[in-house]
Amino acid sequence: MPVDQIASELGIAEIRREVLDGCEGILLTDRVRSIGKILVNSARGPQAARFGIAHELGHFLLERHVLGLGDTFTCSLKDMRETRTARLHERQEVEANAFAIGLLVPDDQLAPFLNEHPDISSVAGLRTKLDISLEAATRCLVDRHDEPIAAVWTLNGRIRYVVRGKTFPWIARSAGDSVSSLSRTASALAKGKSGITGMHEVAAAAWTTADIPELYEQVRVGRDGHALTLLWASLPGADGADRDED
Ligand SMILES: [Zn+2]
Repeated sequence: MPVDQIASELGIAEIRREVLDGCEGILLTDRVRSIGKILVNSARGPQAARFGIAHELGHFLLERHVLGLGDTFTCSLKDMRETRTARLHERQEVEANAFAIGLLVPDDQLAPFLNEHPDISSVAGLRTKLDISLEAATRCLVDRHDEPIAAVWTLNGRIRYVVRGKTFPWIARSAGDSVSSLSRTASALAKGKSGITGMHEVAAAAWTTADIPELYEQVRVGRDGHALTLLWASLPGADGADRDED
């Protein structure tokens, strides 16, 4: 998706990519959107910058979004991760994110991935196909897949943040907590080898106090202590018999 070109055709006069400290994107505009300039953080890589541009373009096109001081939107990393909320500021961020995902991830491109079992390898395929970040691809999968799944981002074994699908049960741990020693993530990190594990059963207590029949966990261990964990629950009454066991 040629996001710069689309933005320019929709009235964005200038897009700049710079290393920003403390914010991910800025849209300079006015109430009637007669002008639009986007400044986006390039420090987290080209794919995150593309997402940032699409997010700011969302604010630009959603005219009822209320401008901040100096007729700007200044968007933080937290803003770029908002998915569900009722408060005005966050709701605008949720809408800008939904717009960005809608633009960068067309439904027909996503559909094949939603028909497969949840898997980090296929998320990586989605990332490559659509030139979005692994994070955006993962969030998209968690949000849209019918299965109860959740994703957990960790650094050095501590949770950075969690995204749960609508039907995934509560996760008993939150940002800042260490992962449970019962988790597959803990054992994958202990091995210290980067790569993607299989999707294997794990004790539900590693992640949740909810009473669920089965929980599966897959881990992608990256460099520099970063890891991504995909959790797949079977809910009471659901048939999980088609999952691979080993
Ligand atoms: Zn924003």
